[in-house]
Amino acid sequence: MKQLSLAIDLDRCIGCKTCVVACRNSHGLVDHENCMPGEIPYYLRVESERKGVYPNLSETSWVVPCQHCKNAACIKACKAEAIVKDAETGIVRILADKCAGGRDCIEACPYGVIQFDAAAGKAHKCDLCWDRVHMGEKPVCAEACMTDAIRFGEKEILKMQLEAEGKEIVMKMSAQSMLYFRTPV
Ligand code: SF4
Ligand code: SF4
Repeated sequence: MKQLSLAIDLDRCIGCKTCVVACRNSHGLVDHENCMPGEIPYYLRVESERKGVYPNLSETSWVVPCQHCKNAACIKACKAEAIVKDAETGIVRILADKCAGGRDCIEACPYGVIQFDAAAGKAHKCDLCWDRVHMGEKPVCAEACMTDAIRFGEKEILKMQLEAEGKEIVMKMSAQSMLYFRTPV
């Protein structure tokens, strides 16, 4: 199966959340009148790790979208069979017309990336910008990132490019279909 992927550069991500905001805008996850900060849904989040002791501190940031898992726990958990992994792209999608709002997927996802639309009674999440990628465009996060920290493409080709550039894929972060990489020190 072909697997589309994001390759996230741990050296370039500065944790600015521009991608998070661009994603929210693109997917209509902004409800300025009714939402409070912290209650606005998000399809990807920023995590970071700080190392060292003052004044010698360093911080590494990265983004966590849906990992479009190989054997997705959300698919197994959904009693309505509303979640599918597309054979052409490897994208894991929640089919809104089949979602019965049972929330089992939210409990099952080990990455905590599924959102719930209480008004519609449906789960929703990152679909790697399904509509955009079928038009030959990049996902919004990869387009918006000011530091070019997110690459998009077919996973095996991304891996070959990273290998050719001498990058190190961080295996424990890249267990599913997204890749996390850095320049070896
Ligand atoms: S991936 Fe890019 S846009 Fe997103 S937080 Fe990191 S630097 Fe900012
Ligand atoms: S990260 Fe969560 S929502 Fe995405 S495919 Fe894996 S289990 Fe499903």
